Amino acid sequence: MKIIMLGAPGAGKGTQAKMIADKYKIPHISTGDIFRANMKNGTELGLKAKEYMDKGLLVPDELTVEILLDRVAQDDCKDGYVLDGFPRTIPQADVLDKELTKLGDKVDFAINVDVPDENIVRRMSGRRACLKCGATYHIEHIPPKKEGICDNCGSELVQREDDKPETVQNRLSVYHEQTQPLIDYYTNKQILKTVDGTKDMQEVFNDIVSILG
Ligand code: ADP
Ligand code: AMP
Repeated sequence: MKIIMLGAPGAGKGTQAKMIADKYKIPHISTGDIFRANMKNGTELGLKAKEYMDKGLLVPDELTVEILLDRVAQDDCKDGYVLDGFPRTIPQADVLDKELTKLGDKVDFAINVDVPDENIVRRMSGRRACLKCGATYHIEHIPPKKEGICDNCGSELVQREDDKPETVQNRLSVYHEQTQPLIDYYTNKQILKTVDGTKDMQEVFNDIVSILG
């Protein structure tokens, strides 16, 4: 099963993608996580991506498409995957579509996690992430058992640089301009399913499971 998660930054794509990956035993692939891992390791890709990410801008398609295609070509993706944060532009979606068509394959579901802009700033300002294992929390809605410490691996939780209020507004504008058109794109392909992302995390997941089957 090949699934795409759509939605504004902070809508809960990553939270749901991890739960989907666990239940359906497919890899969770987040281009944002791949860029952050590269930034942490100081690679050339990480340095390039940081220039854009820190400003709330999208990393250019050429860089993003290459890392995504490399990742989905790996062995663990044979039976499917859930993409979180890719595609974010129409050209990215077109490349994915073409590559899958070449393999006689296609995306099965595009899940749009719908959360209005007014909730997004709150979601992102409360987000805390573990840079070691990738777990995500929210200081009010989904708090860790011990403040500031990851439940999974005991590492310190941090606020993402691009979750600061100045950057959040930019990311939302970029979302509306460049990513939201994908909703029509996948509606036209008849694979778009929208869920109400303002519900509690488990309820959103139940709605997604009833779509995926
Ligand atoms: P995205 O991957 O779309 O950017 P995340 O999954 O990281 O979003 O979620 C953004 C923030 O909102 C995180 O702090 C997360 O813990 C929190 N969150 C996710 N889903 C919900 C939900 N259904 N209700 C409340 N908070 C949520
Ligand atoms: P995310 O972790 O999905 O919120 O992504 C964080 C940041 O990484 C984004 O704001 C972009 O700067 C960059 N990024 C992640 N995925 C993509 C993508 N598919 N295309 C362009 N930039 C991306």
